Amino acid sequence: MKRREFFEKSGCGLLGLMMAEFGFASGQKEGIQAPKKKMSREDMVKKMLMKKMGKTEEEAKAMIKEMKEKLPMVKDMCICKTCPTYVAEEKKVGFCHPLVGKSEIIKEEKGCDCPKCPVYQKMKLKNGYYCTRKSEMEQEMAKKG
Ligand code: SF4
Ligand code: SF4
Repeated sequence: MKRREFFEKSGCGLLGLMMAEFGFASGQKEGIQAPKKKMSREDMVKKMLMKKMGKTEEEAKAMIKEMKEKLPMVKDMCICKTCPTYVAEEKKVGFCHPLVGKSEIIKEEKGCDCPKCPVYQKMKLKNGYYCTRKSEMEQEMAKKG
């Protein structure tokens, strides 16, 4: 039940603007600009929870703590490595999890085995191709605009 709650709690709000909000800013100033520091995945999720889902900092921290607790289980049960879309160069798994997110290496979709995965079934996930289309939470938020 707790596992379900993790995704249920995470699956509301807005994420249509995530790329713009959490990606690289496009505004350019004249002259030399210091390189932008890439935000950590954890900071990005925290910002998303607060800005897009209206969570307080304390709530966001508590949710991230719970996400971290679930992450080893998700990685252990993940079947991505046997999926036709997975590539040998990739080492990560558990792309459905908010703290993992999409792959930077996998680009081509060749079928998704996620619906066969125990994590997918236990957590009643609704989407797929997390390696190319972002985590369950992000895909659900994008649907809600
Ligand atoms: S649902 Fe997909 S991405 Fe998530 S753990 Fe299972 S196989 Fe991996
Ligand atoms: S997220 Fe889905 S498509 Fe991507 S590697 Fe895992 S099972 Fe395959």
